[in-house]
Amino acid sequence: MREGILVGEAIRVVLGEARLLPAETIAASEALGRVLAEPVASGRTLPPADCSAMDGYAVRATDLAGAGADAPVRLPVVFEVAAGGQGERRLEAGEAARIFTGAPLPEGADTVVRQEDTEAHLEASAPLGDVDLRVAPVQGDNVREAGEDVRDGDEVLGPGALLAPPHLGMLASLGRTLVRVHRRPQVAIASSGDELVEADQDPSGGRIVASNGTTLVAQCSEAGARARNLGIAADTPEALEAHLRAGLVSDVLVTSAGVSVGDHDHVRPVLEKLGCRLQFWGVRMKPGYPLAFGRIEPDGPLVFGLPGNPVSATVTFEQFVRPVLLKMAGHRRLFRPVVEARVAETLTKQPGRMHFVRVALSRRGAEYAARSTGNQSSGVLRSMTEAQGLLLFPAEAERIEAGSLARVQVLDGAVLASDEPVA
Ligand code: AMP
Ligand code: MG
Repeated sequence: MREGILVGEAIRVVLGEARLLPAETIAASEALGRVLAEPVASGRTLPPADCSAMDGYAVRATDLAGAGADAPVRLPVVFEVAAGGQGERRLEAGEAARIFTGAPLPEGADTVVRQEDTEAHLEASAPLGDVDLRVAPVQGDNVREAGEDVRDGDEVLGPGALLAPPHLGMLASLGRTLVRVHRRPQVAIASSGDELVEADQDPSGGRIVASNGTTLVAQCSEAGARARNLGIAADTPEALEAHLRAGLVSDVLVTSAGVSVGDHDHVRPVLEKLGCRLQFWGVRMKPGYPLAFGRIEPDGPLVFGLPGNPVSATVTFEQFVRPVLLKMAGHRRLFRPVVEARVAETLTKQPGRMHFVRVALSRRGAEYAARSTGNQSSGVLRSMTEAQGLLLFPAEAERIEAGSLARVQVLDGAVLASDEPVA
C-alpha cells in the first residue's frame, strides 16, 4: 500500500480499478441520463415519404415559372391532403392540391407554395375552387424529403451515447420502447463515530448529526448512481465490521470518518479484515488527506474510506468517487469542467499538498471571478454551500496573487446560467 500520494496519482489509481458495469434493458422513456450500451439502427425512414413543411398548395414548380406578386398563376384546386391522409390521385400538370403541414406530397407534385403566397377563389368552377399563386418557387421548396432525418438502416445512436431528451425522442420515433444501457452503480454509504446521531435524533450532549451520510447519498444521486445509506456505526471494530458487511453487495462502498490514525479509527483494519486490499492511504491534498482506497478481493466492491470532516468528505467524493461512478456507468466525460478565474484575494500556503479552495464563482462579461467563501476549515460545511467552485492551488505552489488567473473546478453548472433572456 502506498502512502501520501499526489492527487493526480490517486485519480489514476481509482480510475484504473473502475470497471464498466454490464448492460440492462430498461424502458426507453426512463433512460434519461443513462449511457447507451448498444448501437441503435433504424428500421424506418423518417419522414417516411416526401411531405409538406407548410400549410399551402402542392404544385409542379414548372407550372409557376414567371409567377410573381403582380403576375399570379391561377390553378384549379383538385383535391386536399391533410396530415395523416393521402393524395386521392396523381397531381397532373396545371393543377394544385390543398396541403397541410406534415401531409404527404401527392404523386406528381414536387413543390409546396406557402399559403401566405397565395389567394384562394372558392367561388370558381373546380371542386375546391381556384388558387392564385404569387411566387415562382424552386423545385422542392417547402418539401421535407423522405429520409432527410433518418434512413432505414442508419446507425442513429452509437454505444456510449449519453441519453438526453432528444435521444429519447429519437428512440420513440424509431419505435424503440426498450433500450440497453449500462447499469447504474449501487453505492453503500456508511458513517462511523460515537458522537454521531441521525438528523431526526437529539444531538444534545455534544453530539452532531451524521450529515455526511446525507451529503454523500445526494452526491451519488447527482452522479447518476443509486445510493443506500447504511447509517451510523459505533466506534468499535465489531460494530463497524457488522455495519460494513451490509455494504459488501454493492458496487462501491463509501465510508466516512474513522480512517485517520486516532485510537478510535477502526476503518482501515476492519476493511482489511473484510478482505480489502488497500492500494493507498493518504492523498496530498487539503482538505482530505486521510483517504483510503482499495477493493474487497477478489471481486467485491471498490472501497473509499473518506475522511469524516464534512468538507473533506464531500471534496474527496468529488475528486475520486464521482469519476469512478461515472466511468462504471459508461460515461466518457468523467471530470467537472475547469475554468480560469480572476482571483479576488492573494492566497498563500505551504508547499506539499494541493489545496481545493472553496470559492464563490461569478461571471463578469467574458471572465470568471473567484472569491474565497471564507473560513476554509474542513469542518465548515457552510463554506461549501456558498461555493460554486474549488480553486485548484497546486501542491508545490505557495502563493497566488490577487488579480491573477487560477484554475477553478466548477461544481455548480448554474454559474453558466443567466438571468437574461436570449432575446
Ligand atoms: P474522524 O475521522 O472520525 O476523526 O472524524 C473527523 C471529524 O468529522 C470529527 O469532527 C467528526 O465528528 C466528523 N464527522 C465524522 N463523521 C461525520 C459524519 N457522518 N457527518 C458529519 N461529521 C462527521
Ligand atoms: Mg471518529
